[in-house]
Amino acid sequence: QPFLELKNVSYQYPDGTLALNNISLQIITGKKIALLGNNGAGKSTLLLHLNAVLAPTTGQLYYKGKDFTYKRKEKNKLRGDVGIVFQDPDTQLFSSSVYDDIQYGPRNMGLSKEEVESRVLEAMEMTDTMSLKEKPPHFLSVGQKKRVAIASVLSMKPALMIFDEPTAGLDPYYTNRILNILNQLATKERTILVSTHDVDFAYEWADEIWLLSEGMLIARNAPFEIFQDQ
Ligand code: ADP
Ligand code: ADP
Repeated sequence: QPFLELKNVSYQYPDGTLALNNISLQIITGKKIALLGNNGAGKSTLLLHLNAVLAPTTGQLYYKGKDFTYKRKEKNKLRGDVGIVFQDPDTQLFSSSVYDDIQYGPRNMGLSKEEVESRVLEAMEMTDTMSLKEKPPHFLSVGQKKRVAIASVLSMKPALMIFDEPTAGLDPYYTNRILNILNQLATKERTILVSTHDVDFAYEWADEIWLLSEGMLIARNAPFEIFQDQ
C-alpha cells in the first residue's frame, strides 16, 4: 500500500491557470525521487498537494490508503509525516535561536522532553548545525540557514521529506554540503523527494525520476529508463 497517492489530480489557480493536469502517482517509503521540470511546469504546485496546503480542484489524495478529507486534524497528522524544506529558508525560520527552531516541530507533536531533545541533537548532527544552536537564525549565512531549515523539518522525522530546489542560488561549496546531507537522509523508512533543474544530480542520486511538463507527468521511471527514452 502506497504511503501517499494522487489519483487524477488537476489543479486550477483562482485566475484560471491550469497548473496540474490529471496527475496520478504513488509514493512508497524508502525511495529517492527527483522531480524534474522547467520553470512553470507545476513542480511547486505538486509539492504543495503532497502536504495538503493545496487541495485538488478535481481528483483525490489518499493518505495511508484512505481518502483524504482535508479536515484540520487530518492535515496536522499528514504534515507531521510530510515535511517540506522550502527554497527560501527565511520562510520557515522564525524563532529567536536555532535550537528553538529545530525543537518547534517535535515539541508541537506532544513528545516527551527527552524525545524532543534527542531528536534535536540527531537533526543537528546530521546537518552540522550544532555550533549554531544559540544563534538567532536571522543572522546566519544563507548556507547555514538552509541547513537549519533542513534540521527543523528532520526533527519531526517525516516519512516523506520534500526539498524544493535545495541548491538553487547556492555556490558550489554550499551545494556540496547540501548534497552530502541529502545522501545521508534516505533510509528504508523515509522517502526523499527533491525538485530540481539539475539533471546530472537527478541521474546520479535518484532511484526514480518524475518528469513534469506543463502540468502533466510525462514520465515516471528509473533514471536509466528516462534518459534512454529522451
Ligand atoms: P514550477 O514550480 O515548476 O516552477 P509552479 O507550480 O510554480 O511551477 O507553477 C505552475 C503554473 O502555475 C505556472 O504557469 C505558474 O505561472 C502558475 N502559478 C503558480 N502560482 C500561481 C498562483 N498563485 N496564481 C496563479 N498562477 C500560479
Ligand atoms: P559552519 O560550517 O560554521 O556552519 P559555513 O558552512 O558557513 O559555516 O562555513 C564554514 C567555513 O567554510 C567558513 O568559515 C569558511 O572558511 C568556509 N567557507 C564558507 N563559505 C565558503 C565558500 N563559498 N567557499 C569556500 N569556503 C567557504
